[in-house]
Amino acid sequence: MSKAGFNLESSYTSLPERFYTRTEPTPVSGPNLRVFNEELAGNLGLSKDELKKESNIGIFSGNMTPDNGIPIAQAYAGHQFGHFTMLGDGRAILLGEHITSSGETFDIQLKGAGITPYSRGGDGRATLGPMLREYIISEAMHALDIPTTRSLAVVTTGESIMRETELPGAILTRVASSHIRFGTFQYAASFGEDGDIQKLADYTIKRHYPELAQMDNPYLALLHEVVKRHGTLIAKWQLVGFIHGVMNTDNMTLSGETIDYGPCAFMDEYDPATVFSSIDRQGRYAYGNQPNIGGWNLARFAESLLPLLAEDYEKAIELAQDAIAKFPDHFHTQWIQGMRAKLGIFNEESTDEVLIKELLELMQQYEADFTNTFKALTFDDMDRMVMFHTEPFLQWKDKWQKRLERQQESLSQTVELMKNSNPAVIPRNHRVEEAIDAAVSNDDYTALNDLLHVLSKPFAHSRDQLEFASLPPKSQRPQQTFCGT
Ligand code: AMP
Ligand code: MG
Ligand code: MG
Repeated sequence: MSKAGFNLESSYTSLPERFYTRTEPTPVSGPNLRVFNEELAGNLGLSKDELKKESNIGIFSGNMTPDNGIPIAQAYAGHQFGHFTMLGDGRAILLGEHITSSGETFDIQLKGAGITPYSRGGDGRATLGPMLREYIISEAMHALDIPTTRSLAVVTTGESIMRETELPGAILTRVASSHIRFGTFQYAASFGEDGDIQKLADYTIKRHYPELAQMDNPYLALLHEVVKRHGTLIAKWQLVGFIHGVMNTDNMTLSGETIDYGPCAFMDEYDPATVFSSIDRQGRYAYGNQPNIGGWNLARFAESLLPLLAEDYEKAIELAQDAIAKFPDHFHTQWIQGMRAKLGIFNEESTDEVLIKELLELMQQYEADFTNTFKALTFDDMDRMVMFHTEPFLQWKDKWQKRLERQQESLSQTVELMKNSNPAVIPRNHRVEEAIDAAVSNDDYTALNDLLHVLSKPFAHSRDQLEFASLPPKSQRPQQTFCGT
């Protein structure tokens, strides 16, 4: 174990060499620690005092590899906006897997650490704005109880990066259950040798689903479990209005964690057609389309597993189709359970879905803010929004109140459930942009730290969160996010 507490293994290098390339990070000239996640460091059993020392900054900048780290870039492929292509870590380098004292395994990866064999003409670097954006949103997602990779640190490199203009370079230290992607399986299936896909599947099962190893058909069980985890994950996205923005198969993990925060954003007004990403011109990855795309991506994953599902090809296809067909149900079960909770409903009635959909339709019609609508319902504080003063809403509210009266739980239990299901704050786009702007343009991290603080307890509903809930007029809000480079 190194003195900062890193306890690194490199189990990924037990896979055939085709799955990775040993690649050292490219040192940078002027590393400076800008954001550091003390809480996460503590959870991982790392020494925050050691890691904050000037002498250890090289760990986060790629200038110094922690003891036992074997830096690699991982190979993968993927469907990008529907088109299959070879990819791989073009600017990310995995230092190793940190094993905690309780035996948990976490990938420690540097994003923006320099050129790799998979850089395809890119510079292997990242700029400060998008790395801060990933830090803020991934940490907010974690606090919202949504499976996600996390962010341990952001350093600036002291070097400028050429994009449309010169921008400050930065490196994000990402912590993940693993970086195995649907695209890693697609890579093995398309570019590997016989046996590679099984080795990858065995590795994945050992790492994420050890209980499946003993089953009759562990690979089919793996497919079913991944279908379930993604049903849960995407339901959780929908329930907070999160739009990933680039649901390419290379950005979908076997662990079921959200990964690769690029042009993601949270929806303000409820509208299923909402898209923020400037590169998603067709709305393929619009809010309302995320569950469909989830199913499409799982089908691509299932295709890569076919040789393992059954010896007979027809049989394998049938098994894969049955597994994929379960996705809409898994998603829907999680979604409706979450929506009931958002409305304070404990038990199940068959008309609940109608009640939920009627509210969503009203929200769409009156352009009601997604997060603030549920918050207003939670606190019975319905003055500020137009929708709340309309006749159709009052009729809906009456139905909802009657529905709540038909359950045993008390009003205070209902409110408690709603408080725990409806966040007080989400990373509002204008707040995120403001915080990033001050950091990038003025070296001022005050707004960013304040934002991280309120986002860390989204269900606290504390006073200091109030100002973070309001929205500027639509004309002053960022309407587009750009691919994080
Ligand atoms: P992403 O959109 O971040 O999921 O990245 C898609 C692919 O492009 C991945 O293979 C990345 O490693 C690669 N990539 C993105 N930016 C760069 C860069 N600046 N240099 C090299 N590769 C990159
Ligand atoms: Mg290799
Ligand atoms: Mg990616």
